[in-house]
Amino acid sequence: MSSILFENAAILDVEQGALLPDRWVLVDGARIASVSDTKPDAPGAQRIDLKGQTLMPGLIDCHVHVTAFTANFAELVRTPPSYVAAKSAEILGGMLRRGFTTVRDVGGADHGLARAIEEGLFPAPRLFFCGKALSPTGGHGDIRAPGTDVHEAAYTQPGLGRIADGVAAVRQAARDEIRRGAHHIKIMGGGGISSPTDRISSDQYSEEEIAAVVEEAAMANLYVAVHSYAARSIERCVRLGVRSIEHGNLATQQTIDLMKAHDAVLVPTLSVFRALVEEGVEAGLPKDLVGKTYEVLDAGINAVEMAYRAGVPMAYGTDLLGVMHRRQLDEFVLRADVVKAPDLIRAATINCARLIRREHELGLVKPGYLADLIVVDGNPLENIRIMADPQRSPRLVVKGGELV
Ligand SMILES: [Zn+2]
Repeated sequence: MSSILFENAAILDVEQGALLPDRWVLVDGARIASVSDTKPDAPGAQRIDLKGQTLMPGLIDCHVHVTAFTANFAELVRTPPSYVAAKSAEILGGMLRRGFTTVRDVGGADHGLARAIEEGLFPAPRLFFCGKALSPTGGHGDIRAPGTDVHEAAYTQPGLGRIADGVAAVRQAARDEIRRGAHHIKIMGGGGISSPTDRISSDQYSEEEIAAVVEEAAMANLYVAVHSYAARSIERCVRLGVRSIEHGNLATQQTIDLMKAHDAVLVPTLSVFRALVEEGVEAGLPKDLVGKTYEVLDAGINAVEMAYRAGVPMAYGTDLLGVMHRRQLDEFVLRADVVKAPDLIRAATINCARLIRREHELGLVKPGYLADLIVVDGNPLENIRIMADPQRSPRLVVKGGELV
């Protein structure tokens, strides 16, 4: 078992929101063995001097689609799974190099990718997946054009969603994803941008269907995440026990208050809307769908501000597709006008760890925790923009005690 001793590190204490200077961090195997202000006895450890640099927990992105090598989902489902797997490895490698040591996939990734990562077949973050997102016919997971009748339902087709209508069918689909190892269940609760026939303002799934999925997930000690923009869609899902609200752009104060009362988590994804209007078409988004982006673009930051004021926990999310993935660290900057730096760091570390229920071993630099660490040049608590500056962040990435 190899060990690493980080010397003269300024540790970013996520809980306190403070920088602790001149610390020694000993990593033994996959975990952090000790954090101290005196030099520990560590014969044989590889020593890395971090003078002047910040050591912080590896980042977590709670809204990614690692298989989405293109923003054109009709093309994605026509692509051989072998090619999509290879592209996913490339996308995951990019995420890890950006400092994301854990990601939560909310549609597309499966047990095959998770197994390959666990076996160390290619460099990648830890992967939490839901399999395919559940969508009603004509919903955000239905990528057919209005003139298409046939629905090719082969599960191995590399789409992000699967269609299930009716209480019995959604129960079966949820059970099937749980059978395949899902860490959470994702449903489409309202219209989306990349789906050709739905409307942003529409609700998706009946209350009976949503309640059935929530019950199936709870029976397996899992939780449900919902794709939703509109206030009404979010509110019905929150009332029915959905825990994780993805996007949430059109939330009102009433929505936010309800989320607070139900202990729901907001996962804003400002990065993707900015990216879609700037380069969505080049990334594969069909031209006629770009207009839908403007229905949610400006509202995104308002939802973040309301949630922040109300104390609704927020997790870091990006939702990027294809070539847009390089913008994954921009979310720090996009939220910076309304969220203070220590809370932004918490969003990308401990808040995400709580959402995926790994707060006992991910998201902090603490003895016993997994040694998922990054080194950045400077103090992001004073200047959060450091996080999105490729010259300064990350300078070094460690996952499970191994240098990337
Ligand atoms: Zn998404």
